Amino acid sequence: MAKLTLNDMDVSGKRVFCRVDYNVPLDEQDGRMVITDETRIRATLPTLEALIEKGARIILAAHLGRPKGERVPGMSLRPVAERLAELLGRPVAFVDDCIGEKAEQTAGALQPGDILLLENVRYHAAEEKNDPEFAAQLAKLADAYVNDAFGAAHRAHASTAGIAAIVAENGGQCGAGLLMQRELQFLGEELESPERPFVVILGGAKVSDKIKVIDRLLEKADTILIGGAMAYTFKLAQSYTVGTSLVEKDKVDVAQQALDKAKEKGVKFLLPTDNTVTESAKVDGKWTFKNERNNPDVNIPDGVEGVDIGPETAATYAAECASAKTVLWNGPMGIFEDPRFAVGTFAVAKAVAEATKNGAKSIIGGGDSVKAINKAGLGEEVTFMSTGGGASLEFLEGKELPGVAALSEK
Ligand code: AMP
Repeated sequence: MAKLTLNDMDVSGKRVFCRVDYNVPLDEQDGRMVITDETRIRATLPTLEALIEKGARIILAAHLGRPKGERVPGMSLRPVAERLAELLGRPVAFVDDCIGEKAEQTAGALQPGDILLLENVRYHAAEEKNDPEFAAQLAKLADAYVNDAFGAAHRAHASTAGIAAIVAENGGQCGAGLLMQRELQFLGEELESPERPFVVILGGAKVSDKIKVIDRLLEKADTILIGGAMAYTFKLAQSYTVGTSLVEKDKVDVAQQALDKAKEKGVKFLLPTDNTVTESAKVDGKWTFKNERNNPDVNIPDGVEGVDIGPETAATYAAECASAKTVLWNGPMGIFEDPRFAVGTFAVAKAVAEATKNGAKSIIGGGDSVKAINKAGLGEEVTFMSTGGGASLEFLEGKELPGVAALSEK
């Protein structure tokens, strides 16, 4: 059943506890913590503007980093309150705890349209334990609950799950924020019955991380294109040689099962036919790579490691994207953090952007692929980029996320 969204909620004059994802990167500069990427703050603005417009009294809660129940000063959300106030052009109050008298008094004194950001919920160990008493203290602040933190929705924590149950018990509505709603739409509904051909591009380090996603998408996709180190475990399953490439030998049977399923379902399942390879060695605990070159063969010889897809594979994958009506991409094609091995990933980013220009719907499933698209300067040229990492993967696996499950039904 569909979940309630902010659009369906009556929040006028109500204290709305809004869980957001403000887990932003911070850097210490001249003794101050400075936000180095504010994408996550900007991503919440539509929800906040809608809440202001509806006359809600807004109480924002978020986590930052992993303080593990300690008050780690470098993980304070105070700099976020300051930046948010600038972005919204209105004051944002800040309280240095997320529960207790001061938080309750400040939340109680808010006028319609006022905003309060609470301190890092993970300063309390009870948050990650989904402790009912802690959740009840959070719930004291609110008449209604909105969750806009898709990136944290795969965790059953007090501010993502526990509080919602209590607000609902007290008769309050619990709904998805506008960002969360878009995540559920694109990673959920749109992929449930995608316009065809539906092409899925999967990369990254490990088959084991993505096998459940592969298994589920084998039910839906017309074509699956595999890149990244994950491809080499599939190559092993097909009895090709992989040199010193990163593989999971104990997952060869799992890879074989996926290959068998693809055959059975008539899904075109492509692996790289050429690769960029290098000679790699660990020097002083750090991997170094030299003599990178194209290996124009499906087999990778002894002594070299596959670190990217090659030009022939990139061209094949681009041609598959060009014929797609829906594209889903998750995971880089190589060690894209090193510019020498980012060529294949950027070629795929370009192909996805081209396909979008030609009318395909393109969905980027979070994490490193979002980083790669942004690095390629093509972030504006795809239909949707997920803000989740682990949450996107779990959702694509078909799992019900605790932060979504906790919301009221429509
Ligand atoms: P994931 O988090 O599973 O999407 O994996 C992303 C990571 O996989 C990135 O840090 C890449 O550097 C790494 N990766 C991709 N291709 C390879 C490869 N061929 N060999 C080693 N690591 C890779």
